[in-house]
Amino acid sequence: MEMSGTARLQGVKAVYFDLDDTLCGYWDAAKAGLRAAFDVQPVPGKTTDEMIEAWAKEFRRFAHELKTSHWYEIYLTQGAITRVQLINETLAAIGMQDPELAWRIGDAYGVERDKRLKLFPESKEVLSALHQHFPLGLITNGPADVQRQEIETLGIGDYFDHVFIEGEMGIGKPHASVMRRAENAVGCKGKEILFVGNSYAHDMLPAIEVGWQSAWVRRSSDVPPSSRTGKPEDKPEDGPSPDLEMNDLRVLIEALVPAQV
Ligand SMILES: [Mg+2]
Repeated sequence: MEMSGTARLQGVKAVYFDLDDTLCGYWDAAKAGLRAAFDVQPVPGKTTDEMIEAWAKEFRRFAHELKTSHWYEIYLTQGAITRVQLINETLAAIGMQDPELAWRIGDAYGVERDKRLKLFPESKEVLSALHQHFPLGLITNGPADVQRQEIETLGIGDYFDHVFIEGEMGIGKPHASVMRRAENAVGCKGKEILFVGNSYAHDMLPAIEVGWQSAWVRRSSDVPPSSRTGKPEDKPEDGPSPDLEMNDLRVLIEALVPAQV
């Protein structure tokens, strides 16, 4: 980790975090959980690798449909139904129809993913250090039940004064109204707020657009199972730059916490 020479961020009064792949390894848990689900609920005549590939193909299509159709309202409150729907469509794509097997795979995926969800090694140290100096909040996309379960599984609820979940708000990042809600909650705005997140499009851009400071977490593990490139997200060439970039959250301590004298 490169610690020396980290720029100090001036004027920050509140810090918001994204959750998945910022504080915890969501994609790692998702990939391992998916593999375990197809291992324990095998699809006749297909290997686990073939099923993961078929699932990834459907995911790329369904992820868009999910946000733009009647599925969105269902997805907001509970993750299980759309998770199973995606398995149903994966089975359909390989010429199978077995709703009961789809439920078993979908359930297994939810359970196996949650079991494997872990904070990054430095997350607690950083939350605990920052919590002594700043109000902290979470702004996370995803179904209400899944996100609440993640906070519970990770044991980090007590660090946050404010929690904003897409599933509970009915709207998610990158909508500016989400950032406005978070501003009102802490009574700060503009450069007084720092947003820490892993997604350029969903975390950094909306934060920069409402005038917040921004810290981009870029880790090599940040690759979805549906990725075609196998690489983490790049910054678009003409996009604005976040104030900080890091692959270890401890950079935030150096940038934000007053030195002990
Ligand atoms: Mg994230």
